[in-house]
Amino acid sequence: MSRIVGIDLGTTNSLCSVFADGKPQLIPNAHGSVMTPSVVGRLEDGQILVGAAAKDLRVTQPERCVSGFKRWMGTDRETRLGDRTFTPPELSSLVLRSLRDDAEAFLSTNISEAVITVPAYFNDAQRRATRLAAELAGLKARRIINEPTAAALTYGFHEPQADKKLIVIDLGGGTFDVTLMEVFEGTLEIISTAGESFLGGEDFTDRLVATVLKTIGEHVETAELKKPLLVARLREQCERAKCAFHDAEEAVVRIPDEQGEINEHARSARVRRSTFEKVVKPLIDRLKAPVGKALRDGDCSPDEVDEVILVGGATRMPLVSSFAREYLKADPLCSFNPDEVVALGAGIQAALIMDDAAVEDMVMTDVCPFTLGIETVKQFGHHMQEGYYVPVIHRNTTIPVSREEVFSTVYANQNSVRINIYQGEARKVKDNLKLGELSVDGIPPGPAGQQVCVRFTYDINGIIEVEAYLPQTGAKFQTVLTQHAADLTEREIADAVRKMQDVKFYPREDVRNQRLILFCEKIVGEISPLHRQQLEEAIDVFEHSMSSGDRERFEQSRIGLLLMLSQLGIEYEETDDEQ
Ligand code: ADP
Ligand code: MG
Repeated sequence: MSRIVGIDLGTTNSLCSVFADGKPQLIPNAHGSVMTPSVVGRLEDGQILVGAAAKDLRVTQPERCVSGFKRWMGTDRETRLGDRTFTPPELSSLVLRSLRDDAEAFLSTNISEAVITVPAYFNDAQRRATRLAAELAGLKARRIINEPTAAALTYGFHEPQADKKLIVIDLGGGTFDVTLMEVFEGTLEIISTAGESFLGGEDFTDRLVATVLKTIGEHVETAELKKPLLVARLREQCERAKCAFHDAEEAVVRIPDEQGEINEHARSARVRRSTFEKVVKPLIDRLKAPVGKALRDGDCSPDEVDEVILVGGATRMPLVSSFAREYLKADPLCSFNPDEVVALGAGIQAALIMDDAAVEDMVMTDVCPFTLGIETVKQFGHHMQEGYYVPVIHRNTTIPVSREEVFSTVYANQNSVRINIYQGEARKVKDNLKLGELSVDGIPPGPAGQQVCVRFTYDINGIIEVEAYLPQTGAKFQTVLTQHAADLTEREIADAVRKMQDVKFYPREDVRNQRLILFCEKIVGEISPLHRQQLEEAIDVFEHSMSSGDRERFEQSRIGLLLMLSQLGIEYEETDDEQ
């Protein structure tokens, strides 16, 4: 099997790793650095520059360069560089190609496959754009994994014996990601994830640029328009100052002239660390919401978190680590380099795909980072209103997962329904992302309210199987959405769909459950009204859990019902041999 490389395709910097000699290793680029700036430039003669060369060009000829395009993945935004325009996947593909060339030179072999990391909150369109970028760079994306998951893999690889709850805080150049997870006996379990796609280290630099411009009586927007060279060069100065605040109380920022030159007569501005901290305070405050959301979704209080893993260059700011320390009351771990931990994890995932012996004991479970659901109609009096969204699989559910919801027809004699499948968190479908549809017909004539059962099954490859079932006729309808999935062949998809069948379970069809319900239904009429109410509640919970597809919920409610029977002093004997 050829080598699969791991790639952290970052907003600001990108890295590439390979699993060799039993561990993940970073691959240096042609300049000897393991970090390649995610910057693309195009010279007048059409020559493309990527990485450090493009970053240097950006200072003197910002109009010839572009960066930050990861934020536009999944959109139609085009960038003009000279006489050509580029789509976000095209720009990303240039970075990927550069990493691939460096890997081929370093490993003296052809590289055609990669594991690529993306922010956990990336939606389907953004992931598809990433896959397209890989294809344009001549790489098959064997797996697209979430960046925090990759960070967790690095942790799990180095600490196989840990038994802890961890939180990964990833503040990169443009994005902020939080993931809560648990590690025990070599198993990594992602519990929940949250993030913000427009909050990162660059915003801190922007605030500093604005502050410095103010000292010379300039406003950012006007300066950007009228003196782009000054602003580009000043940004570079401010970025340096921001990093210096790591251990300095004060930084001197030299102010370039309108041509972007800094000569001996250049003015300068002294900025105290305390001033910087004051102007970026609103940004630090914005870190709270995603951390809170991940904790709430994971049903975890801040003091239950054992360790904090800091990822991303911007977590080097003391303000960020003290935020983590205060809010989570845990000391951030410093044993991993925050720039490298994601790329190393991508290399470990590549080793898992290649069945490398060094990772054979590692097991990982991930979550579905967004909600999957369908469009529904709401009734307001006599008026039907379309366009509402009903979740079927909630975000942060452990995958693989299978869930069923029962829907009803809304009109009398309605013989067909179209199930529109969406991804997202919004209340209305127009604000979510449409993934596909499934037509269901042959619904027998009758009043409104005919049942249509809809089951979603989602697996680790990102394949979504949607099935509809008409209980009245037994007819089944199915569609498999694979756009989100890694580059799999048709056979691999068929295989994955076959494996997904194991995830589904149909407790209603199990005679033992039918028998338990029948028994309880018989008993409710024979007991006191108070006990009857308690028992009926437990039966309702049990019945509802059977159609949820949630095995854990089902098992708990079954135990609850059996316990209720025994508390009421009712003897019920379970038999195991009936299936
Ligand atoms: P991404 O994952 O988005 O590519 P990185 O993890 O490489 O981003 O982080 C890049 C960001 O980290 C930039 O905004 C950079 O200014 C910031 N950064 C790097 N080192 C430091 C430092 N020592 N202090 C403050 N910010 C830093
Ligand atoms: Mg990153």
